Amino acid sequence: MKAFVMKALDAVGFTDKPIPKAGPCDTIVKTTRALICTSDSHTVHGAIGPRENLTLGHEAVGLVHEVGSEVRLFKPGDRVVVGAITPDWGDPASQAGHSSQSGGALGGWKFANHKDGVFAEYFHVNEADANMALIPPDVSDDTAVYCCDMMSTGFMAAENGDIPIGGAVAVFALGPVGLMSIVGARLRGAGLVIGVDSISKRQELARYYGADAIVDHSREDVVARIMKLTNGAGVDSAIEALGSEQTIQNAIKVTKPGGTISNAGYHGKGDYVGIPRLDWGVGMAEKSIRTGLCPGGRLRMERLIRLLQAGRVDPARMTTHTFAFRELDKAFEIMDQKLDGVMKPLIVF
Ligand SMILES: [Zn+2]
Repeated sequence: MKAFVMKALDAVGFTDKPIPKAGPCDTIVKTTRALICTSDSHTVHGAIGPRENLTLGHEAVGLVHEVGSEVRLFKPGDRVVVGAITPDWGDPASQAGHSSQSGGALGGWKFANHKDGVFAEYFHVNEADANMALIPPDVSDDTAVYCCDMMSTGFMAAENGDIPIGGAVAVFALGPVGLMSIVGARLRGAGLVIGVDSISKRQELARYYGADAIVDHSREDVVARIMKLTNGAGVDSAIEALGSEQTIQNAIKVTKPGGTISNAGYHGKGDYVGIPRLDWGVGMAEKSIRTGLCPGGRLRMERLIRLLQAGRVDPARMTTHTFAFRELDKAFEIMDQKLDGVMKPLIVF
């Protein structure tokens, strides 16, 4: 089969690989749709260290091709969505409610990290009964593929933000995760949602997804404007959806005492992330900083699909480009360099 791989640091391309085989609890999925993620770029540029001929990609849907002898819930031909994070559900971390950390920090993140990812004609799913969900007939592949990571991560950011009904929320950076955080904040009952970004296309999408106010950091003082929008009180919850020191610091600054900073950003550079000491109440202002990695699992995917069925969100609005699988090198470059106003490129197999 054809696979699109990270050949080495800063080098990608196509290669041939054998179709993977399913162990007793696993399935092999024939890929139909995938999305490129900014974290694929982080990986190629060395954020998690060197890799050799590792198949990239972690967001995909497809048709079940092969099932292991112990798989109960799926059969060949089923249309399925697979979480970007595929935990080991028997691990103590999973039993403690932290399945994305099963097997160690970020251990649930296997695709394009510890094993081949989904940018291939077929891919392998461990613990299939627990890690994938059926896609119902009224949900398209083009939409369902957003459950894997973008919806799951964005909604996690809102869930971790502990948003009170009617509360004020600021979302820093309006890429796909930030946009889904806005939807998540609305679903969690936020009364005021403030989006921060300088790119007009993203601002427009943020308004569509439910932002009440937009702050453009290229034109105004973000902290001062958010304090003004909240009558000097600050927000109950600040969501960091970029992964930069500046934004996490601003998130801490605008969060009111007792509030929560929810980090969804991938901090891919440097050895430390600094905390602004005074704005953190010298460590005593009861400002919580919560972190999380995209939740996976069948239950999670089924809940996200229910939101799609109910029309609560239309994530496919974020698809700016569509490419055939054979054009993945071109699509990857556009995403890597953030060319042509790209948000999410959809890959059709
Ligand atoms: Zn992703």
